[in-house]
Amino acid sequence: MSVSVSPALAINVRNVSKRFGRVLALDDVNLSVPEGNVLALVGPNGAGKSTLIDILCTIGKPDSGHVEVSGIDAVRHPLKARQKLGVVFQEPTLDTRLTVRENLTFHGMVYQMCRSERRARADAVLELVELADWGNAVTRTLSSGMRRRLEIARALMHEPRILFLDEPTIGLDAQSRAKIWSYLETLRDTQGLTLIVTTHYIDEVEGSDAVYIIDHGKILACGAPDALKADYGRTLLKVSPRGEMVRATLVKRYPDAVETADGQLLIAIDQTVSADALLAELGTQLRGISVEQPSLESVFLSLTGRDLRDAPTGTSNGTRNA
Ligand code: ADP
Ligand code: MG
Repeated sequence: MSVSVSPALAINVRNVSKRFGRVLALDDVNLSVPEGNVLALVGPNGAGKSTLIDILCTIGKPDSGHVEVSGIDAVRHPLKARQKLGVVFQEPTLDTRLTVRENLTFHGMVYQMCRSERRARADAVLELVELADWGNAVTRTLSSGMRRRLEIARALMHEPRILFLDEPTIGLDAQSRAKIWSYLETLRDTQGLTLIVTTHYIDEVEGSDAVYIIDHGKILACGAPDALKADYGRTLLKVSPRGEMVRATLVKRYPDAVETADGQLLIAIDQTVSADALLAELGTQLRGISVEQPSLESVFLSLTGRDLRDAPTGTSNGTRNA
């Protein structure tokens, strides 16, 4: 007889809600992460991602619900939970007047690491994020991508088993974004770290074990990237109309079409629409037309009726994020 043992949960969130005045920032959220997994939390500005990360890393308190981190009740025992986790906050928190190594040392002192341990860990984490040659540089002189890498290094100083990263790639160029994801995958693959990463760049999260899609404080769907695509993905036609006349015609004919910020129309392909037919009919009036296979972007689109990149901030609750 074989007995299947399910992996232990690094994070277990049950029925968590959080309100700020009239805004319900988290609405009955459930989420669980097996040890050693990478979970991506994806949603537009104002969706509730930072509120959830703050609660998980014990900076914020839920109004109701249960939060377990490494088997510890994080609401009742925040200090105990904090030993197990590292955080990279959305807003940079480095002291830019200190050197790279001093930022790490200071963190090590807060976590009561001894001098030799601090030195050894600083070497190891700087190596990981490819900043070994920059230890004595004043942090101010680093590029934004390098500073973000330093923040990851700092969060790893006290050897947490769970790492939270709130929009670690926001505002970075494609190369820096790719580097950061490669460090994260290395941490998972070589050290079995559990990672919870928020982003609103949905194209980044293909390599994660599970994707949770959040909007207006609610988890709309979750699953492995391929499973989400199979369940919710749609083949999309991306059409660039040449002029307002043909745009208006298309919008009228396909009321579910989504207009992107760069002026394209996204139309879900079904029995009544095909690229060939549209091209034959409107060829000269189109600047371009392409077919997109089901992607995570189309998953967001079919769940919310909006394009993630253009999703306006806080529409349903009338608030806006900075
Ligand atoms: P995200 O990180 O996904 O952009 P947040 O968690 O920062 O979203 O915000 C979720 C909602 O809660 C937004 O409507 C935001 O304006 C609101 N909010 C977050 N923090 C506060 C706060 N400290 N006070 C009031 N409203 C807040
Ligand atoms: Mg945020």
